[in-house]
Amino acid sequence: MPEKEVFGLQKKQLVESMKLNQAVGSKAVEEAFLKVPREEFVSPQYRSQAYSDTALPIGFFQTISQPSTIAAMLELLEVKPGQKVLEVGLGSGYVAALLSNLVGEKGKVYAIEFLKGLIDFSKSNLERTGVKNVEIIQGDGSQGLQAKAPFDRILVSCACPFIPKPLVDQLAEKGRIVAPVGDLYMQYFEVIQKIKGKILKKQASDQMFVFVPLRGKYGFQKDSF
Ligand code: SAH
Repeated sequence: MPEKEVFGLQKKQLVESMKLNQAVGSKAVEEAFLKVPREEFVSPQYRSQAYSDTALPIGFFQTISQPSTIAAMLELLEVKPGQKVLEVGLGSGYVAALLSNLVGEKGKVYAIEFLKGLIDFSKSNLERTGVKNVEIIQGDGSQGLQAKAPFDRILVSCACPFIPKPLVDQLAEKGRIVAPVGDLYMQYFEVIQKIKGKILKKQASDQMFVFVPLRGKYGFQKDSF
């Protein structure tokens, strides 16, 4: 069987298993996962494992997150077509590609990455897979992206000690932030909503997750890991 067909089948199986374990609940998130080829976002040596439900190394001591973890975050984020979304921690570009599908042609995704090597990696992955509405920025995403604020949705794809204040300030009215918050070893999802200027914060899951650390001004400081 040609590789493309094998990946197509494996992708459908992964999505079905994520529906069964209730990581995927909405049609929109299901369709996004069916559209984005994860094999184009993993390091070449892990290509055959692209549809295993695990995080995989992408170099520079970073990982592409586990699909069911990403799905759970995307369900909490409730992205709508046409929205402006910020992702902190672009990594391989896979989550940005999913977000691009969720916002659709009229929407826009800004994605910040700290590491130059991963800027080049994600840029080539997004170009190769024809993703057009993702703008890549190199910098410290813990400070957000003031120049393009406010954002309807903000997704933090790395572990934070707390949700950085600049992200809260850069959130639009009725906006939502989803982030894994905790220490370096375990985090749970926090959701922030801005309603009539007020900030509502809730812990969104009892389940714990392990993300790579957020660095920069409002992240974990270098001597702590
Ligand atoms: N969403 C990614 C997962 C990447 S892992 C994917 O789909 O593959 C988290 C990423 O956050 C790493 O690439 C890391 O370099 C980046 N990162 C850590 N601290 C950051 C910061 N302050 N600003 C921007 N990116 C950061």
